[in-house]
Amino acid sequence: MKSLTNRSKLVVNKQMTFMERIYLPVIAKGMLVTLKHFFRKSVTIRYPEVKRLFAAAYRGLHVLKKDENGAERCTACGLCALSCPAEAITMTAAERQPGEEHLYKEEKYASMYEINMLRCIFCGLCEEACPKEAIFLTNEELAPSVYDRKDLIFGKDKLVEKEHNPDGKVRGGGPLTERLYHG
Ligand code: SF4
Ligand code: SF4
Repeated sequence: MKSLTNRSKLVVNKQMTFMERIYLPVIAKGMLVTLKHFFRKSVTIRYPEVKRLFAAAYRGLHVLKKDENGAERCTACGLCALSCPAEAITMTAAERQPGEEHLYKEEKYASMYEINMLRCIFCGLCEEACPKEAIFLTNEELAPSVYDRKDLIFGKDKLVEKEHNPDGKVRGGGPLTERLYHG
């Protein structure tokens, strides 16, 4: 029969040799590979007891920052939500009432602010877009394991930092673009 290409290969039903039939040489060869790994440096770690150091560019869970007086910096401008490619952020704006100056930095604030961590791709664009330096991605926090999908919609109770912490929980070196392009 004439073939269209030269790629066809004739399959020969070759009988196995004695050594191939007893399988022992290939088993020994496989065990040797396993044995070699006993004497090599392990590439795995005993997580969660041991944790790896994250790279400076690592982007973990978000934090909504407070100012030096302990007031929330977010003014519910919505720029983070607009810039989010995953449409993971929603918020409701409210007007600050007299006497609430210690709670909210400006006249407008977010009475509800939610990030759907199931949608978030940790791109950091919300952090880049924020004109008030109110939202940052942390450099240490991983998304937790949960049993219920609802638990991965993070509200202000999980996002707002408990007290003003100028350096804490924020990735080192300032905004992402600054660190990526200016070292
Ligand atoms: S990190 Fe990216 S995907 Fe996640 S909330 Fe911010 S902008 Fe959206
Ligand atoms: S986190 Fe920043 S960008 Fe988002 S609503 Fe608040 S002030 Fe605006």
